[in-house]
Amino acid sequence: MFIGHYGPALAAKAAVKTVPLWVLFVAAQWVDFLWAAFVIAGVEKARIVENFIGVTPLDLYYMPYTHGLPSAVLLSLAMGGVVALAFKGDRVAVVLAVAAVAFSHWLLDLIVHAPDLALVFDQMKVGFGLWAYPYISVPVEIALVLGGVWLYDRAVPSPRRAGTIALWGLGFAMAALQVQNSFFNEHPKDPAAFAMLSLTGYTALAVLAAGVDYLRRPRT
Ligand SMILES: [Zn+2]
Repeated sequence: MFIGHYGPALAAKAAVKTVPLWVLFVAAQWVDFLWAAFVIAGVEKARIVENFIGVTPLDLYYMPYTHGLPSAVLLSLAMGGVVALAFKGDRVAVVLAVAAVAFSHWLLDLIVHAPDLALVFDQMKVGFGLWAYPYISVPVEIALVLGGVWLYDRAVPSPRRAGTIALWGLGFAMAALQVQNSFFNEHPKDPAAFAMLSLTGYTALAVLAAGVDYLRRPRT
């Protein structure tokens, strides 16, 4: 899953208003940030197989450290703990909400991935494979993001019109990015380049989310 991961991040704003959106964006892709770094470092492995599943060319045959279930749980809790230490607010609520956003990554991957998510270390792999049907999976991803935008905008309305426009603008831009990425994209030819592109994309989206945070900051 790509932009769909940001749906839970946007929705979490309703629960933990003190945590910036960009932090929730990083939490939502936290295990993929590590995955990309590990693929570049050669610790986790993938290979490019044209149309491996639907329009997705990645065979993710070895990623136990980031996408194995036990690791994903631990990484999510760690992310929740770090964010709770760094930002004010009800600490228990922040740990739970941020850990839930981080772990939603694994659950959403479970829906779309081929069976490549290990339940124990690199064993017993699961994945329901919705990516085989991109004309279903892409609308699902877009619905998750726009649903999250709607929830966030309703729970924490922007004090400025620019903040509302920026949030919805980001949501629709992400939807366009998903369509482009799924149907009109030349994929990188090796996994490390793919990982680098992912890192760049996730970082750019977190920076744009910080811009949205700025435009939606409370009036003083
Ligand atoms: Zn992932």
